[in-house]
Amino acid sequence: MEVSSKLEEVCITMIDPKILPQASKKVEEENWLFRSFLKGQDPEEVDETVHYLHEKLFEQIDCVACSNCCKSITPNLENEDIKRISQYLGETEKEFTVKYLLKNQSGSWVFNSSPCKFLTPNGCSIYEVRPRACREYPHTNKPEFISRLIIMIENASVCPVVYEILEKLKNRYTEGFRDYLSFMPDNW
Ligand code: SF4
Ligand code: SF4
Repeated sequence: MEVSSKLEEVCITMIDPKILPQASKKVEEENWLFRSFLKGQDPEEVDETVHYLHEKLFEQIDCVACSNCCKSITPNLENEDIKRISQYLGETEKEFTVKYLLKNQSGSWVFNSSPCKFLTPNGCSIYEVRPRACREYPHTNKPEFISRLIIMIENASVCPVVYEILEKLKNRYTEGFRDYLSFMPDNW
């Protein structure tokens, strides 16, 4: 059966970003168990399903209205990002760095404020030149979803698309996950 026909019915729902913190908290424990289950599944089949869901769900979400990622997490900036954005703003790289950046504990450049200073009511004011990490977030169209489950579960409290992908994957694997849980020590 095609991935699309297995998931068509469940693709019509999208959680309201405003209730995401409470909703993701409720399913967090279940998500950690689902992570253990999913690691035993065919990685290519999981990727195929996740990529399909990524396309469908991003068709339904208004990222400008959501902006949760820009409000709550800070992207890493590469040298190319700093060069491109500072040029766009008509500042030297040094001026831009002093004004907007700091180094995190791992030594990477990140924005020095959260919510991001470039976030406006109409979305990102440097959209065309935004950092690569912003462009690629939440990374749900990349291969090897199973290898990034820890960050995905963390991101489920930030990004409605990630939350829904995990919920819809649980639907997709309902029977297998139920069997897996029945073998857990406390009979979950
Ligand atoms: S640079 Fe733009 S896309 Fe990136 S966090 Fe800031 S507002 Fe969001
Ligand atoms: S990427 Fe996710 S968290 Fe960021 S604005 Fe879009 S839906 Fe919201």
